Amino acid sequence: MDGFESNEGVILMAATNRPDVLDPALLRPGRFDRRVVVSRPDVRGREEILRVHTRKIPLADDVDLSVLARGTPGFSGADLANMVNEAALAAARQNRKAVLMYDFELAKDKVLMGVERKSMLLSDEEKKNTAYHEAGHALVAAKLPFSDPLHKVTIIPRGMALGVTMQLPIDDRHNYYKNYLETSIAILMGGRLAEEMFLDSMSTGAGNDIERATELARKMVCEWGMSDLGPLTFGKKEEQIFLGREIAQHRDYSEATAVKIDAEVQKLVKRGYDSAKDLLSANRDVLVRIALALIEREVLDASQIKMIIEGQELPKIVPPPKPDDGVQQVIKPDLQPGRAKGGERPAPA
Ligand code: ZN
Repeated sequence: MDGFESNEGVILMAATNRPDVLDPALLRPGRFDRRVVVSRPDVRGREEILRVHTRKIPLADDVDLSVLARGTPGFSGADLANMVNEAALAAARQNRKAVLMYDFELAKDKVLMGVERKSMLLSDEEKKNTAYHEAGHALVAAKLPFSDPLHKVTIIPRGMALGVTMQLPIDDRHNYYKNYLETSIAILMGGRLAEEMFLDSMSTGAGNDIERATELARKMVCEWGMSDLGPLTFGKKEEQIFLGREIAQHRDYSEATAVKIDAEVQKLVKRGYDSAKDLLSANRDVLVRIALALIEREVLDASQIKMIIEGQELPKIVPPPKPDDGVQQVIKPDLQPGRAKGGERPAPA
């Protein structure tokens, strides 16, 4: 989830889930007259979806679907189904008879950040580099206003990334505001900056950050009218109607304007870079503490980052739940075969 794409998907009223293979001729006026916009589910919708998908799964007593629904803003129905499935698999892998909240947390991170690649070994050098890089993102995200709260920071490789700093919005977002986007650019810059400032090195690991920051800045200028060029859009996208897919971009502006656009994009990225740099310079010791904690623990959650920023000691590492945790709460006496005859039920607590 990159978070800056439209919140809404457009589907066709046709029995296909492969809109990319539709012949454009199908889309001529008169063929499909209705457009159905399917929004991502809101918090109540997510709770309902979770309820449906967990109907046949034994849940431990600590599982609270409303908490899960609140913790998954931006998840689509498919993401939620995927999360439930992964949680059930995680519990089964541990020979657990019921799915714990812990399993859901693991599954949520898997859906959010990709699958952990524990087999991929980082050299100490790479590990250190990744820890400082992610600490840079995390510290900027934690300190700058208008950012989404941190969810987790990890240096366990996931998908294509060596490390991940994950933020989660508090509520469902329908709009992005300029100050939020500016902060996002600064957060993206924080990673590379930390490498530069603390390790005196630059790695290719920041390539994706730089690309995303530039793309964000370009959208702010060209699509959302958020620069000194004013409320204009530049570049008309030729979208295949219905499909919402960008096919090509038409340049509808002059060479002179193109130069101005580039300057504005540069200005926005530079501004984010500068504010991240100021922040990291003023909090050097905090950044080092976050990076060292990451090297030691590999994962830090939001509360731990907060403790480090406040100068507190982190609590000891908690081991994951054991296989039979949660069983007792779930298999209730009157559900066990042969026990329903009465007389044997324990007194209610
Ligand atoms: Zn990064």
